Amino acid sequence: MTIETVAVGPIAAGDVLVRIRAASLCHTDLEAIEGSLVVKLPAVLGHEAAGEIVELGDDVTDLAIGDRVVLSWNPHCGRCFYCERAQPILCSAFLANGPKGFHFDGRPRLSCDGAPMHQLMYLGGFAEYCVVPAQSAIRVPDTMPFDRAALLGCGVMTGVGAATRIADMRWGAAATVIGCGAVGLSAVQGCRMTGAGAIIAVDPNPARLQLAQAVGATAACGPADAVALTRSLTDGRGSDVVIEAAGRPETFRLSMEAVRPGGQVVWLGKTGVNEDVAFRWGSLMQEKRITRSSYGGAKPAQDFPLLARAYLEGSLKLDEMISAHIRLEEINDGFAALKRGETVRSVIMFQ
Ligand SMILES: [Zn+2]
Ligand SMILES: [Zn+2]
Repeated sequence: MTIETVAVGPIAAGDVLVRIRAASLCHTDLEAIEGSLVVKLPAVLGHEAAGEIVELGDDVTDLAIGDRVVLSWNPHCGRCFYCERAQPILCSAFLANGPKGFHFDGRPRLSCDGAPMHQLMYLGGFAEYCVVPAQSAIRVPDTMPFDRAALLGCGVMTGVGAATRIADMRWGAAATVIGCGAVGLSAVQGCRMTGAGAIIAVDPNPARLQLAQAVGATAACGPADAVALTRSLTDGRGSDVVIEAAGRPETFRLSMEAVRPGGQVVWLGKTGVNEDVAFRWGSLMQEKRITRSSYGGAKPAQDFPLLARAYLEGSLKLDEMISAHIRLEEINDGFAALKRGETVRSVIMFQ
């Protein structure tokens, strides 16, 4: 990535202009950088961001200049086949326009030397300013710090949502969370917030396991011990819910081995879309249910304010997930550190 000056606008009637104050580095940006996620170029990346509203389109009535907002990368039309079925993540307009890297209406909002610029996931948060559809700007309390707020927009929402919106989590349930990056650490917290009894965190990195226990895991181990530990804590059955947040063939397989008969598996991780993943057939039997989710069943307008409140009240731990605050000039080093597994989240602070 390079730092360039980009022209913004014109701002359409349904848009808002957000001055970005903090943006964090997520693996999906890394996929775009490395090419496993195909993005039209030139593009502004960044999709976990928070800032303040500085300009309103003519039709925007429910936001005000100065509002503190977290950005959602899932604008949706509200009336297509999937929206009508309460699956906004599959919205026809969302899926059709996303790969073009333009706005939700299919038109660009940014340009560089007169040529249109693309925006990753309708946002492009690695910038001082960002034009988004008003529905993608979700107001949070003014007391919510920008760096913590940024995390809510993707990784935290996805992980917490897996437990609160996707899994059929019951009070006292046993849950195993595989992978303790930002999404997995958030899934651990979602399990805690929904009243899970045992929460078993799985990761090869001992430092990550310590973090997981600091945010609510009741037990922790490496992948090789995950099935044995889960069974030992569940009378030999396996967990009621297994949340996979690592995105490798072996962790998808592990999720099926660690869940109990009749239990539920939520896959948040992803591997190459053309890659085959093999399973031991017996691990798939016995009435197990698998749900794959991209955004934890996010209902951003409801969930972002709830998540912010949970942080402010102390029940959602975010400070632990911020490994570093960096400047925009350090973004490439930040992604190198993310790739090496050294950071959970680096947050770019804009002055
Ligand atoms: Zn739709
Ligand atoms: Zn993300």
